[in-house]
Amino acid sequence: MGANLGARAVVLGGGMAGLTAARVLADRYAEVVLVERDAITGVTGERQGVPQGHHAHALLARGHEVMEQLFPGMQDDLTANGALVGDLSGDLRWYFRGRALQQAYSGAINVSANRPTLEAYIRSRVLGLSNVVLRERTIVRGLTTTPGHGRVTGVLLVGDDADPRPETLAADLVVDATGRGSRTPAWLAEFGYERPDEEKVKIDLAYTSRYFKLTTDPFGLDLAINTVPHPENLRGAFFGRFPDSVALLSLTGMLGDHPPRDPEGFLEYARTLDAPEIYEAVRVAEPMTEPVSFRVPASVRRRYEKLARFPDGLLVIGDGVCAFNPVYGQGMTVATMEAEALAGHLAGGAVRPKEFFRAIESIVDIPWETSVGGDLALPGVEGRRTAKDKFGGAFIGRLHTAAQRDGSLTSAFFRVAGLLDPPQALMKPGLAIRALRTARQVDAEAVPATAPDAVVGERAVVVGGSIAGTLTARVLADHYREVVVVDRDEVLGISQPRRGTPHTAHAHGLHGRGYLILAELFPGLRADLQTRECRWATWARCAGTSTRACSNRRAPACCRSPPSVRCWRTTCAPGWPRCPTCGTCSAPS
Ligand SMILES: Cc1cc2nc3c(=O)[nH]c(=O)nc-3n(C[C@H](O)[C@H](O)[C@H](O)COP(=O)(O)OP(=O)(O)OC[C@H]3O[C@@H](n4cnc5c(N)ncnc54)[C@H](O)[C@@H]3O)c2cc1C
Repeated sequence: MGANLGARAVVLGGGMAGLTAARVLADRYAEVVLVERDAITGVTGERQGVPQGHHAHALLARGHEVMEQLFPGMQDDLTANGALVGDLSGDLRWYFRGRALQQAYSGAINVSANRPTLEAYIRSRVLGLSNVVLRERTIVRGLTTTPGHGRVTGVLLVGDDADPRPETLAADLVVDATGRGSRTPAWLAEFGYERPDEEKVKIDLAYTSRYFKLTTDPFGLDLAINTVPHPENLRGAFFGRFPDSVALLSLTGMLGDHPPRDPEGFLEYARTLDAPEIYEAVRVAEPMTEPVSFRVPASVRRRYEKLARFPDGLLVIGDGVCAFNPVYGQGMTVATMEAEALAGHLAGGAVRPKEFFRAIESIVDIPWETSVGGDLALPGVEGRRTAKDKFGGAFIGRLHTAAQRDGSLTSAFFRVAGLLDPPQALMKPGLAIRALRTARQVDAEAVPATAPDAVVGERAVVVGGSIAGTLTARVLADHYREVVVVDRDEVLGISQPRRGTPHTAHAHGLHGRGYLILAELFPGLRADLQTRECRWATWARCAGTSTRACSNRRAPACCRSPPSVRCWRTTCAPGWPRCPTCGTCSAPS
């Protein structure tokens, strides 16, 4: 694409927002200068300017779509470098309100690469563009303007300690992507403009994260185990796996209930999570790093679109406009969507800040409302709760309850959470009624919670160690100090038919309600039972009906009768046929 908007654009900040902005500006300006205070050449790990890089980061499905358009082949490149790619609701295990949701494919893709890896990849693609120039170890001190401050004409830079000479760099356009600490509000005030209004929601959140080398396999085929805070437990976690048995555990705590940094406190905090398998795994895992913490006092949205006056030649993007509560994983995706909007704006042939801010207002609105709505569902979060917030919070609560039973609700929810579908998609009458009905059934049939203090005796003896005896022992264990199971056979560690249970040599199926009760009694059951062969068998059924061999072993179960396909994909190119049930795509043969 030709350069038609000017000689030079300068992007302040080389984080995800700055990189994606630089990518689209490179299509329209002869030169794009990326100014970054950190040394970033060759850096593939965490760095000072992006302290959140120590903590779990997910790129939501919509962000993945836009990234793939801006950087074609990204998914394949990351996968080739060891990133694990899967489905946000089919391949990740999610706990909401203390219960695991039923997993189901949604077509919302999830890339499990840590933040530094993702950023280093995007950076290499951007810096590979012939007209992008990096100025690293360079700090932005201010802006230069025309005499009446009507237009920004460049930036004031200083080198870091090694080269502290001040310098002015002229620019046709300056894009501020310096993140939460953006100085644009202060610069506006300095030039006689109003500062933007700030909306703030105090969340007093902290992350503490640590890498582990696992000695057990809590994941099965899942890519991550995540638990989301709720009124009864403000503690959450993102536990993601990487190749070679490496896993990153990010503990999160809201409203001041922060995960500690000392190893014992960290482990004790993990013990209180809704997903017991996380604690069980890290308890015996080998720590690879020291715990690192990061605090987020508030989510902040700056309303640039509401300002009556704004200088020409300046835009703000990324966290500088809206820094979300990070537990919703929206920041990078919104930054890429804003870059996409910037590309559309530049295609109009001129930069008009007010129009640009209005365009990104509509991008920020939905994730902001979703995350603030989620936070306001926690009674301790301060803020005005409208009738819409209360209704929305109550409905989403019911949907999560129903999604324990109905995977189609899980996938519908994650298509919205992944910013692929609008929230209204959850309010379609058929879906909403199903959610409310199923939630009622789940409540009615819930296995009563066992109070640990409800001890009714010293010892219970169960005679017979097969399925009924074992399950009974599991329930009794909550109420007797000791439970003894007596069986004439040797049963411990035996997974073959044995003398006392000859019928187990024959086919046995565990159906609906039985499975659900077992899953409640034994959290993590699904992952423990799920074998590689099991999911491959699903794929084989699927691919077997296609005309060509399929190399994708993650084809979802719903694709039973695919049309003539080369390979099922979770990313879609324009014109590719979609599976009507699960929404995934296939390349036309
Ligand atoms: C704990 C945590 C977890 C998160 N998890 C997720 C997640 O799972 N998914 C997700 O999408 N988002 C997540 N986010 C948000 C995400 O990190 C950001 O939204 C995203 O990186 C976009 O940020 P940005 O590029 O606007 O700013 P940043 O990433 O903060 O980058 C700003 C850049 O500007 C540079 N800079 C700053 N000041 C100057 C200066 N004066 N001169 C020169 N350079 C400067 C910095 O060095 C840095 O490189 C998380 C955030 C936190 C805090």
